[in-house]
Amino acid sequence: MLNSILIDTSKCIGCRACQVACKQWNRLPAEETSFTGYYENPVRFTANSWTRVVFREHEDESTGAISWYFAKKGCMHCTDAACEKVCPAGAISHTETGAVVTDPKKCIGCNYCVASCTFKVMAFNQKENVSQKCTLCSDRQAIGLIPACAKACPTGAIQFGTRVEMVDLAHRRVDELMVQGYSKARIYGLEELNGTAVMYVLKDDPEKYGLPAEPKVPISAYIWDAIFRPLRIFVAALIGLLIWENKRETKKVLPGEKEAQ
Ligand code: SF4
Ligand code: SF4
Ligand code: SF4
Repeated sequence: MLNSILIDTSKCIGCRACQVACKQWNRLPAEETSFTGYYENPVRFTANSWTRVVFREHEDESTGAISWYFAKKGCMHCTDAACEKVCPAGAISHTETGAVVTDPKKCIGCNYCVASCTFKVMAFNQKENVSQKCTLCSDRQAIGLIPACAKACPTGAIQFGTRVEMVDLAHRRVDELMVQGYSKARIYGLEELNGTAVMYVLKDDPEKYGLPAEPKVPISAYIWDAIFRPLRIFVAALIGLLIWENKRETKKVLPGEKEAQ
């Protein structure tokens, strides 16, 4: 059975309780950040920040009215997942419930998934030498709990349930928003990338929330998948060897550099 998260941006107040809940449940340490002028903090995904709330301000060209757009962002858990296609080690897979998860035991730290992610959410943990991102709280789902972000959201902007329930809820909400005058209201994640396990209800165009209008898997990912999947074990071993050799050489150089100083 496929599960989904539905993020209703029309109900989001930008409180960032979801960000905090994600950090707490996943025991992700705090990171030092700085104010960049954008009311977003942190401004990018890292190995220790798997969800963040984006803030966008738009001025209506004809009336001059200012509107704010909030959206909780993170891994979209794409059906057509570029990260999974490019991983030479087979460390990224779909669970039975539709989440895209990484296996730190198989990850060789090559960073290909980070470079290929359609939504630029995959991050690299240099200390552990593995890629990291939202797991759709697969560990909580396994014990009958809903994702931590959905549990914490005070406005009901994050809903969790079966894919069928969430699609139905999204359609009903879009109909309500249309009646309220939001003629551009739509669901995002229904068709994109053959469906994403994280879907949105948007009041306006996706770009206004910092979402790509037509998200795509890079062509290089398809080529990589078609050519190298049969040779995956060999390619992973080769890349792993090259990374190991590179690190060994770096270690060899460092003491010499120290002496020269
Ligand atoms: S959003 Fe990025 S990391 Fe998440 S499944 Fe899609 S491609 Fe992979
Ligand atoms: S589903 Fe879990 S891991 Fe993903 S953003 Fe929500 S709290 Fe974080
Ligand atoms: S907890 Fe809910 S209302 Fe607050 S920022 Fe996250 S999605 Fe928006």
